[in-house]
Amino acid sequence: MIIQYFVGATPDDMEIVRSKLKEWGLRVHPSTGEKEDNAQNQIHVDNVFGPVKEHHRKEVATFPFVKAVIPIEGVPQNLSLVRRGERHGVVIPNPYGGADVTIGGQAGLVVMAGVCAVDDQYTGASHRMAKQAGADLNRGGAFKPRSSPYDFQGLKEEGLKILSDVRQEVGLPIVSEILDVRDVDLFMKYHVDVLQIGTRNAQNFELLIEVGKTGRPVLYKRGFSNTIEEFLKGANYVMEQGNENLILCLRGIKGIGHSFRNQGDLDEIVTLSQLTDRPIVYDVSHSTGKKNAVERVGNMAAAGGVDGLMVDVHVSPKHALVDGFQALDDEAALTRMITNWKKLKEITR
Ligand code: PEP
Ligand code: MN
Repeated sequence: MIIQYFVGATPDDMEIVRSKLKEWGLRVHPSTGEKEDNAQNQIHVDNVFGPVKEHHRKEVATFPFVKAVIPIEGVPQNLSLVRRGERHGVVIPNPYGGADVTIGGQAGLVVMAGVCAVDDQYTGASHRMAKQAGADLNRGGAFKPRSSPYDFQGLKEEGLKILSDVRQEVGLPIVSEILDVRDVDLFMKYHVDVLQIGTRNAQNFELLIEVGKTGRPVLYKRGFSNTIEEFLKGANYVMEQGNENLILCLRGIKGIGHSFRNQGDLDEIVTLSQLTDRPIVYDVSHSTGKKNAVERVGNMAAAGGVDGLMVDVHVSPKHALVDGFQALDDEAALTRMITNWKKLKEITR
């Protein structure tokens, strides 16, 4: 918030407010207007940072020498999400025979690749191919959020079982989308390593609270109609539960006049890395919706400083249950992409 004092407020007056703010654990940066000939005409303003609460604003406004209290909308209120000086790495344990995966912090680029929707025939081969090509995690949806109730909704529990069986063989931790608070126990039962919150549930606050409570790594996607401020406030629901394992994921937004499935929001990588210390992922498949755009948009994101890329792959896209049109199926091409993405991240650090 910003506090503006009446012209004529004395240093003692302002000190009363400032000591109150410090008592509340807030940080105060006083500023003064252009030098006036008469000190009495000086304008004084305090910029206040920290977890400002509604009652703080109300109490400050009651002091007679305070002219106005201006809330700063859009700045994340919770310090947990604001950049703390160094980038935070989230560790995803790998008890399946490989090394633990760190995303963010000083770690290299992490690629999460796999099927859009889990099927019983191709998921194994697709996830093996992703690993062969250099992926660090496998992604796969067992519960699919579909615009139409007539569309395939995912294999649900059977899908989670397939995912965990395939994981045992492939050896990479898995990322899978959870749609409903009622499924948290199921996701724990199959030990889903990273809980994905999809764009459509970005403001399902109850779900954010429940996944937050699990302490599991959470890949939180930006709602396709959410501002960055709303995105960060949603993320704070997870972190407010004491869950430090939050990963932010951009995936394009609704827009006009763009030629892709969604309007890319690559430039927000910069914003997020300035405002927060969280790992940042870009979903190149759902943002573009075009397999022939994935490589170059991935190059841009990697060079732009993301910590991770998400990409759809399927060994037989025409048999994919969802989103086959955007799935990569050529292992050699995928290997080249992943190799180059990782290099690009290194040389642009
Ligand atoms: C997905 O990753 O499978 C998905 C549905 O993504 P989004 O929520 O970004 O549309
Ligand atoms: Mn999809």
